[in-house]
Amino acid sequence: MPPSELLRQQAYINGVWADAIDGNTQNIYNPATGELLGCVPVMRQQEARQAIDAAKRALPGWSFLTAKERSAKLRSWFELILSHQEELARLMTLEQGKPLHEARGEIQYAASFVEWFAEEGKRIYGDIIPAPQSNQRLLVLKQPVGVVAAITPWNFPAAMITRKAAPALAAGCTLVLKPAPQTPFSALALAKLADQAGIPAGVFNVITGDAVEIGGELTGNPTVRKLTFTGSTNIGRLLMSQCAHDVKKVSLELGGNAPFIVFEDADLDKAVAGALVAKYRNNGQTCVCTNRIYVHDGVYDEFAEKLKQAVSAFQVGNGLDTDITVGPLIDQVAMDKIRSHIEDAVTKGAKVLLGGKPHALGGTFFEPTILTDVPKDALVAREETFGPLAPLFRFSNDDEVVRYANDTEYGLAAYFYTQNMNRIFRVAEALEYGMVGINTGAISNEMAPFGGMKSSGLGREGSRYGIEEYLEIKYLNLNL
Ligand code: ADP
Repeated sequence: MPPSELLRQQAYINGVWADAIDGNTQNIYNPATGELLGCVPVMRQQEARQAIDAAKRALPGWSFLTAKERSAKLRSWFELILSHQEELARLMTLEQGKPLHEARGEIQYAASFVEWFAEEGKRIYGDIIPAPQSNQRLLVLKQPVGVVAAITPWNFPAAMITRKAAPALAAGCTLVLKPAPQTPFSALALAKLADQAGIPAGVFNVITGDAVEIGGELTGNPTVRKLTFTGSTNIGRLLMSQCAHDVKKVSLELGGNAPFIVFEDADLDKAVAGALVAKYRNNGQTCVCTNRIYVHDGVYDEFAEKLKQAVSAFQVGNGLDTDITVGPLIDQVAMDKIRSHIEDAVTKGAKVLLGGKPHALGGTFFEPTILTDVPKDALVAREETFGPLAPLFRFSNDDEVVRYANDTEYGLAAYFYTQNMNRIFRVAEALEYGMVGINTGAISNEMAPFGGMKSSGLGREGSRYGIEEYLEIKYLNLNL
């Protein structure tokens, strides 16, 4: 790995680069090559408490700044992220595996949240409410919730951080971040740039290490007033229950099981292009990746053939090499999951149209896979695969497919393709999902509210709604 001032191998607490108290470190490896990239401290409860204390001390100064002053710092951070796009993208590909062009896209996407919330922070408006009595004045203020804890996953090592940190900081909160153990370097590089941007010590802290101990402190320490988490539904449930004691605010972006429906009147070429994005981006490792593709009987075979042709053109390999479309999976657990989903579906009668096994490259490379005639009781119909597996299910009418689509505990993203305006509204309104892509497979951007229903989470990120998650409403009743 080339030396880089952005490759930090220490945590960042109170504006200082720090090792674990006991000196323990964890090695970080490149999932494409197994190469050792470096190491980060294994911190525990005590360091987590130090970071929370630093965020608490920094809170009065940061929240006292005007929104415009905070906005200027965030704007500098945004510009530094963009001017280091290439370096950040390479670092991300090295630790996460995604193709370099996707990593570059993620850096831009990550930066977009910082730009957006730098602006939105200036538009945190209160209210004046007509009072029931003439001598009263009723005012509503919005104030930062205080110290925020953020826990983030490895699939978007930069964007999941800025989508939380930017609104928190713009609102006047201070933050302690625990990034995913697989991808700490992207987080630490963002901290380095935040430091350069002049974000004061203690406002943005990053601690690496023991998830259970750090998570226990972040959720158990009464100074923390809000937890924002992106990850699995099981860990989300656990953290939510840990936050119950102090009645902390929580935002949760959890698992999904996105349906992708192709109606008989769909533009099939567009539907295939959408399915490629919705299924295979980041090698299927995003929470809005489609997990189940429902295709109308009348166009099933044609869609399957077109999808097969498109996926056959994918280039699997090390994300740093040119023209690679699909990188490795993150780890062996991910390999085991996709294999078990394929094995289960095939045992129950599905056919392998493409791929279906570990890639000849070895390691955690897996062949982009398409299964046809997948039965409704296959495991993949219920559980998130988080890998390059496209299972094609058949359906024959609208009510039936909406029922299948909603038959899950999850409710994050759904996609469908049709040209019929009546159907667009009927189906969009009937789907129990927080986000619906209609004739598109790409729905995420900083301007729109990202979030799920049911067991997929609580709250929204991005958009003008995203900053509300970091604000308390205070009502003043003034008697004249
Ligand atoms: P994934 O399967 O994508 O790794 P997880 O929900 O396990 O999803 O992880 C998401 C984030 O939650 C990571 O930063 C991970 O370290 C953290 N995490 C996992 N278990 C715990 C826990 N018990 N307490 C706090 N954080 C946790």
